[in-house]
Amino acid sequence: MTEYPQLHLLVGGAKRAGEGRDLADVLDPTTGEPIAALPLATAADLDEALDNAQTGFLTWRKAPPEQRAAVLTNAGALLRERVDAIAAILTREQGKPLAEAKGEVLYSAMLFEFYAGECKRSYGRTLVRPAGMRSEVRYEPVGPVAAFAPWNFPALNVARKVGGPVAAGCSVIVKPSEETPAAGLAIVQALLDAGCPPEVCQCVFGVPDEVSRHLLGSPVIRKLSFTGSTAVGKHLAKLAAEDLKRTTMELGGHAPILVFADADIDRALDTMVPNAYRNAGQVCVSPTRFLVEEPVFDKFRDGFVERVKAITVGNGMDPASKMGPMASPRGPDQMERMVGDARTAGAQVASGGERIGNQGFFFQPTVLAEVPLSAEIMQEEPFGPVAIVNRYAGEEAMIEEANRLPYGLAAYAWTSSPARRSRLAAEIESGMLAINHPSVSAVDAPFGGIKWSGHGHEDGMEGVMACMVAKTVHEGE
Ligand code: NAD
Repeated sequence: MTEYPQLHLLVGGAKRAGEGRDLADVLDPTTGEPIAALPLATAADLDEALDNAQTGFLTWRKAPPEQRAAVLTNAGALLRERVDAIAAILTREQGKPLAEAKGEVLYSAMLFEFYAGECKRSYGRTLVRPAGMRSEVRYEPVGPVAAFAPWNFPALNVARKVGGPVAAGCSVIVKPSEETPAAGLAIVQALLDAGCPPEVCQCVFGVPDEVSRHLLGSPVIRKLSFTGSTAVGKHLAKLAAEDLKRTTMELGGHAPILVFADADIDRALDTMVPNAYRNAGQVCVSPTRFLVEEPVFDKFRDGFVERVKAITVGNGMDPASKMGPMASPRGPDQMERMVGDARTAGAQVASGGERIGNQGFFFQPTVLAEVPLSAEIMQEEPFGPVAIVNRYAGEEAMIEEANRLPYGLAAYAWTSSPARRSRLAAEIESGMLAINHPSVSAVDAPFGGIKWSGHGHEDGMEGVMACMVAKTVHEGE
């Protein structure tokens, strides 16, 4: 059994725990039992973190890019060294299979390494002017950032939240999810061990609404970065707007996958089925709405169900498990409600549809077919191990359905027609689109959505630029 670490806040590099702070239980999703007590920040902790963030910013903004790059490179190397230990605590607190947890920690290392290169390239530009006149555009760090990361990728979400600010020369206070605190703490600790000044990157936990109101209510904070649900995102964006703080919002999605009759159906199934049940479907870019062209519908649905029935569900620490439990008790409750509602609306439950056992937060990998629009799951992001497989008459109807919802994060398409590929690239309303490819994320590509899926980006050069502001300087003789 993995040793789960002692938990603490990291304020100015100091590990804060106990001393009368309130505690929250961290649950093991495999058993549902508590595994640790998490100290919650007091108002005094948050004020101290804010003071540190201000002083940290004033020094880090002047740090040479090479110094920031070295910190990120070294932190990436430390994450690679520590991958087995961090992945084990991540699986313990979140549930995903160990192989996925290792991949997540390594992706975090790759992101730090990419940002290390990128922070040296925040070039400005010189404008064309007559002799004796000079105008330039400079990019400067925006200021201290307050960042809130959710529980579905406890390491990567935190790496994304802190990597951009550290690369850009900002300071950052991150609040990982209280449900999965240890992996995020390990990410912050790696940065500190790599030489990041302790005032530049701090980590707190608390009552989410209290922490966000406290940090966003302070004039020290100049930017909000949030990943989570659209509902909470809208609430936080309003708080940020009161002080005109900048925002990056990575919110929910309900990704369509357009499968055309001319596609390589086996390749689509072999890659998209594992993708749909990765992390028990608790992924903002999870492929959830399979829109299948009529002539290949039966073949696609049957091949989908066959592959889903072969997914082994179990303890994430067991190498045989391809899917672990959901991360919290809310997960199976939500699945049960959404599947029940779809059934009542007339959907076929083609596979799964039930909780597994009475220990932990397990739910069967589930396939719903021919789901009517009236079902809740056709409107709301399921965020669990369930995929919808529906039939459509052709391209026009499929694009219309793909764009119907207010979300616009990820979309996928499978087709062998080059002409259709360019039509889809132009017409699909989403921040990211993968065609004949199962993944929309890469450390060098901007990750983010449109409409209710949010705005701004992480990853790519855009992830660093999102933490910078332009300043124009005009000089005469
Ligand atoms: P939630 O929306 O309450 O929580 C999502 C995250 O936001 C959590 O980490 C939570 O700690 C944080 N949070 C909540 N209220 C906050 C506040 N006032 N200030 C700061 N942080 C706050 O609910 P949930 O039950 O965890 O998830 C519900 C839905 O959220 C999911 O079904 C999914 O649709 C969405 N979600 C999306 C992502 C994503 O990656 N985009 C991640 C997690 C959850």
